[in-house]
Amino acid sequence: MQRLHISTTVREQLVDITLEVAEAVAVSGIAEGVAVVYSPHTTAGITVNENADPDVAADLLETLRRIVPCEAGYRHCEGNSDAHVKASLVGSSAVVPIDGGRLVLGTWQGVYFAEFDGPRSRNVIVTVTPG
Ligand code: ZN
Repeated sequence: MQRLHISTTVREQLVDITLEVAEAVAVSGIAEGVAVVYSPHTTAGITVNENADPDVAADLLETLRRIVPCEAGYRHCEGNSDAHVKASLVGSSAVVPIDGGRLVLGTWQGVYFAEFDGPRSRNVIVTVTPG
């Protein structure tokens, strides 16, 4: 298990962590298997999507903002219920196959840490399992 450290800079942000995850896979020395990328946070998640055109990440955040408004009569008194809901919609992990020591991602795919209540210091857990 390896831990990545991420510092987000704004409240909502998709941080491309593909290179860091690939490095964790390389360090593991495991050539065939899966990498589980996991966010141990309640207001952030992990998603896999296009990292070629940055407008895709912007559209994802904007769409989530539209679906889950900041203020919607939430009960949670901390004032960040929208971030909790967005984190659950996105999910807290992604599983990426490994072949030949490399992540099996589509040409346009990248792994994103999805921040919904930043800026904060965050962790991502990468577990690489042979198989
Ligand atoms: Zn909260």
